[in-house]
Amino acid sequence: MANKGQIGVTTENIFPVIKQFLYSDHEIFLRELVANAVDATQKLKALAATGECKAELGDLKVRIELDEKEKTLKVIDEGIGMTEEEVDKYINQIAFSSAGEFLEKYKDQIGSIIGHFGLGFYSAFMVSKKVTIETLSWKEGAKAVKWSCDGSPAYEMEEIDKSDRGTVITLYLDDDSAEFAEKARIEGLLNKYCKFMPVPIVFGKEQEWKDGKYVDTDKDKVINGLEPLWAKSPSDLKEEDYLAFYRALYPMNEEPLFYIHLNVDYPFNLTGILYFPKIKERVAIDRNKISLYCNQMFVTDHVDNIVPDFMTLLHGVIDSPDIPLNVSRSYLQSDANVKKISTYITKKVADRLEDIFKNQRTDLEAKWDNLKLFIEYGMLTDEKFCDRAVKFALLKNTDGKFFSFDEYKAAVEGNQTDKDKKRVYLYATDVEAQYAFVEAAKSKGYDVLLMDCELDSHYVNLLERKLEDTRFARVDSDAVENLIPKEEKVKPEMKEDERYDLENLFKAVLPAGKDYYVTGDNLGADAAPILITQSEFMRRYREMSALGGGMNFYGEMPESYNITVNMENPLVAKIWAAKQAEVAPQGELPAEAPSDASDAEKDAARKAREEVRKAHRADVEAFAAGNEILHQITDLALLANGMLKGKALSDFIARSQKVVTDAYLK
Ligand code: ADP
Repeated sequence: MANKGQIGVTTENIFPVIKQFLYSDHEIFLRELVANAVDATQKLKALAATGECKAELGDLKVRIELDEKEKTLKVIDEGIGMTEEEVDKYINQIAFSSAGEFLEKYKDQIGSIIGHFGLGFYSAFMVSKKVTIETLSWKEGAKAVKWSCDGSPAYEMEEIDKSDRGTVITLYLDDDSAEFAEKARIEGLLNKYCKFMPVPIVFGKEQEWKDGKYVDTDKDKVINGLEPLWAKSPSDLKEEDYLAFYRALYPMNEEPLFYIHLNVDYPFNLTGILYFPKIKERVAIDRNKISLYCNQMFVTDHVDNIVPDFMTLLHGVIDSPDIPLNVSRSYLQSDANVKKISTYITKKVADRLEDIFKNQRTDLEAKWDNLKLFIEYGMLTDEKFCDRAVKFALLKNTDGKFFSFDEYKAAVEGNQTDKDKKRVYLYATDVEAQYAFVEAAKSKGYDVLLMDCELDSHYVNLLERKLEDTRFARVDSDAVENLIPKEEKVKPEMKEDERYDLENLFKAVLPAGKDYYVTGDNLGADAAPILITQSEFMRRYREMSALGGGMNFYGEMPESYNITVNMENPLVAKIWAAKQAEVAPQGELPAEAPSDASDAEKDAARKAREEVRKAHRADVEAFAAGNEILHQITDLALLANGMLKGKALSDFIARSQKVVTDAYLK
């Protein structure tokens, strides 16, 4: 005789609420049911261990059975089972009232709740029109019962014949949930959520290739064949075990660089293994490769609220029962436990890197190029990590030699200390393009660092803040004589109008559309006649704004270059002398209008002065246009900077032919 009753809830019909409420994450029903089955199995094992249960347990498994045609899904265990009283207590009353409480508590946050809280057994109703429980308790003399419910608050319970201990949950999938009646979907979910559960989970049979197709063998297919390595003691594991585990988790990835085993049980419980993957470019970064588990049960692969941002570049597994799961994301970020966990993980990662630095230096250097982006990103975004990383971060020079920050400081101290007692760290971003500058610096005995990583323009700024009395300068940001000024230099003496002439002389032969700051300098008779550089400051800010550093003002300015004219170079000296001799001096400027003059009078006076200047500038430009060697030396400087293109380049080649021919044959 079936026993009918009402499930103990206050809400009239809560099932539609469950369905709608959990709409985005229906799939977790399977994890919840398998977790219950695993719990029931573990409890039975515990009873057997204490001798309370005397039955021969054998090899306990949890089975998932799918009938694609009937659209039913069964979760079957051989665990402790339930008596009729227990079904009444756990299913009819407690479980559901707690679901009700849960919904009540979070009803305002429907959108922001993470979908992976445990609603337990009742999550089955998210995908089913009817659910039955057939169960036989382990207790002696227990009678098997069947509970069924069609999604209304009414349930039925009756005694049945069932001789195997344990529980069978049967879901009659509803029409909206037909996707869960597909084998591949269920297999995917089991792999996602149940891969590391501590009891074998069986779904279907192993297959073999026979007569041109795959056919089932009679061997059970166990989903969770892979051991959760993180749950073992680090002292029992070898490097090879960690690498094999990585390969099993990420079969498509390259080998990781290093790994770290997390293992703490106070003041919170956390285990895990994190791997440092090879990272070459920011665009290719794979995030969300850390999976969060709770007692070996998969929760999520979005750990961005649990670990600092840069840590999400790592791969691996974190398992902690102490991370609250059934709360919103914003709450998670402010949770004290989560903060402690985050700090702990950051510290452990830093400890591990420091240890590698101390004990595996050669290995660290060999892998540095693939690790650098992670460390730089960490240093740029996490203050605490940065303070630790200054001890193990490496600098690489253009010869491929590595230094710690302390080592580098000692290496360049003295020769690269400028007149203001600041150490100047020279760097190149592209050894090919900046070849001449790198060589010039080396010939002065300077060391040149290689800063060719995407984040380096930000990184250089960070290091200037972190390292005391240190300034960075790109090798091509000035003449090598000026990169590390050792004493106040004597600049050539030039009058205001001479400076103006020099500027116009060169602007006349430089490509249009860019800003130039022309200055005369004494760089020695042997040094190049003209040097084109980009100010360290301007270039860096342009680069940072390109990377998205909120410096758009600099990003939008035209490119500007410093043109240093070496007045001691004989070619320049000769051109300059010719200009002085051939171009008539600027005529007397008409007087400025007195301060009480009318606007019209002031305007007229300004225009008159401007006319005189313009006429003189035209003379200078005419001289420049007629001076082949001026064009030639300017083009050579442009060429050295890769700035001579298109027509300018072919003009240069034609002119060079002529200059060479004139020099040799005439
Ligand atoms: P929770 O698992 O969070 O306690 P559930 O609603 O999933 O909540 O389950 C309520 C209770 O029902 C469980 O605590 C357990 O006592 C019982 N139960 C559920 N599934 C099984 C099962 N497969 N075997 C034995 N007992 C079960």
